[in-house]
Amino acid sequence: MFESLSDGLQSAFKSLAGKGKLTESNMRDGLEIVQKSMLEADVSYSVVQDFMGQVSEKALGKRVLLSLRPNEELVRIVHDELISILGPVDSSLHLKSEGPTIIMLCGLQGSGKTTTCGKLSQLLKEQDIKPMLVAADLQRPAAIEQLHVIGRQLDIPVYSEADNKDPVKVCQNGVAKAKAEGARVVILDTAGRLAIDDELMAELAKIDKKVGPDQVYLVVDGMTGQDAVNSAGAFNDALELDGVIMTKLDGDARGGALLSVKHVTGVPIKFIGTGEHFDALEPFRPEGMASRILQ
Ligand code: GDP
Repeated sequence: MFESLSDGLQSAFKSLAGKGKLTESNMRDGLEIVQKSMLEADVSYSVVQDFMGQVSEKALGKRVLLSLRPNEELVRIVHDELISILGPVDSSLHLKSEGPTIIMLCGLQGSGKTTTCGKLSQLLKEQDIKPMLVAADLQRPAAIEQLHVIGRQLDIPVYSEADNKDPVKVCQNGVAKAKAEGARVVILDTAGRLAIDDELMAELAKIDKKVGPDQVYLVVDGMTGQDAVNSAGAFNDALELDGVIMTKLDGDARGGALLSVKHVTGVPIKFIGTGEHFDALEPFRPEGMASRILQ
């Protein structure tokens, strides 16, 4: 476990061991280093504070003070606590046994919704499950064509309507078509905005209410740090989210936003996006992410 930590964290924890007996005061030094590392990983301040409170309570208990290798025990507590709050693991799309399962993707413009439609479709195709995509992003002029390009690349049907300005109707008609054609999954690619606004939220809430998706996933750009957290809060207030997909974790981002988004929404992180290609979607695993955040 030590190996996954940065040099700074490793030496800090080793120096704790050198002190012979672990005391409240030198353990606090160790926890401060953890706190600094989490803030550097872009975990939001209030989340770090909550987390440190939970960890301190456990670490300052007898378990660490009595342990033979208290510094390792301390790292273990931090690591285990991170894994526990990043969980549970749930990458299932919860497909229904009958009729199409409707999956609605929402998120800010540029977060990776349309690309993720392709990635989920690829995943389903690999399992011999037939998806259909519905182009319900009527805000971004190129979005409909982008979805058709993805459909052609993956050889899956895409439902769109050139002149319909009502995304609710487009989604309803798309779902009806999917039923008629026997698609097992319908993925709704909804509109985003550059920033949260009331009109967008009202539109999404209306689709949620009138179309009744089985799963609503928020797609969040993992590179955007604190903005990701703010937008996740707003989407979570407007919609009943079932999961989060965090994209662009192939970049330098340490992934701290993921911890904050999980904290704000309380719903499972389903997948992470690790590239622009359709196969760059991984089921979320808390262990790897905990090590990355604590680097
Ligand atoms: P939308 O506006 O939410 O539909 O966003 P798009 O799907 O159009 O994605 C915006 C940009 O992000 C595109 O250039 C995608 O190729 C890119 N993108 C999406 N997901 C990922 C990812 O996981 N990693 C990387 N590096 N780029 C991504």
